[in-house]
Amino acid sequence: MENISDIIFDNSDTNFDIPSHVLDEIQQNIQNIIESFDIPDANKSDVIKKINFMYSHTKQMSLTDSLTGLYNRRHLQDTLNREFSRAKRYQNELSFAIIDIDFFKKVNDTYGHACGDFILKKAAYMIMNNFRFSDIVFRFGGEEFAVILAETSLDDAKIPLERLRELFEKSNFNYKGQTVKITISIGVSSVREETESVEQLFDNADKALYEAKAGGRNMLKTY
Ligand code: GH3
Ligand code: MG
Ligand code: MG
Repeated sequence: MENISDIIFDNSDTNFDIPSHVLDEIQQNIQNIIESFDIPDANKSDVIKKINFMYSHTKQMSLTDSLTGLYNRRHLQDTLNREFSRAKRYQNELSFAIIDIDFFKKVNDTYGHACGDFILKKAAYMIMNNFRFSDIVFRFGGEEFAVILAETSLDDAKIPLERLRELFEKSNFNYKGQTVKITISIGVSSVREETESVEQLFDNADKALYEAKAGGRNMLKTY
C-alpha cells in the first residue's frame, strides 16, 4: 500500500496551500477514522483517496464564491498576505487592483436583481479571461473584484487593466431581450519600498479606485 501521507497530501490537482497545522490535524483525523472502521488493507488506499477528495472539494467550496465561482474574500486575504510577504522578502514586483462596477445599483433597480446576478456572472468570466494564468482574480464584495498580479510592475499591470476597462465599455450584455451596458472603474497600486503592510497596499488601490470614481468613472487610476 502507498504511504498514507503521500495520498493525503497529494495536492497536485488543487491550487491552494493548506496550512501545515491543518494538514497535521486532518491526517490524524483520517488515520483515526480508518483505524476505528477496521477497513481491510486492500481497501485502505481507496478510502483515503475518497476522504481526500471530499476534503479537497469542501475546502475548495470554502474558498470560492457560489455565484461566480471566483475565489472569495477570505482567500483574497490569505493570498494577498502571502504574496505581499514574498514580494517584500525577495523584492519581487507585485501589483494589486480593485475593480468596481459603475452604478450597479441602478442596474438592479432598472432591470431587476436576477439581471444583476446574470451580469455579475458574465463580468466575472470576462475578468478571469482577461488575465494571465499566474494572476489571481477574486470577487470580494457584491460588485467588487480584485486581481493580484504577481511579478508585475505598475506600468505592466496597467496594460491588461486598461484592456479590461475597454472590453466592458464596448460590450453589450443581453438579458431577456434587453441590452444592458455597464462600465467599470479600476484602482491599482504596487508594492514599493515605502509600502509597509498589506493593508497599506490595499488602501492604496482603494484610494486609486476612489479617484477613478470621483474622476467620472469608467477609468483606471494608479496610486
Ligand atoms: P458606484 O459607481 O459608486 O460604484 O455605484 P454602485 O451603484 O455600483 O455602488 P453601490 O455601492 O452604491 O451599490 C452597489 C450595488 O451592487 C448594491 C447592490 O444593488 C448591488 N449588488 C451587490 N451585490 C449584489 C449581488 O450579489 N447581486 C446583485 N444583483 N446585485 C448586487
Ligand atoms: Mg462597490
Ligand atoms: Mg459599484
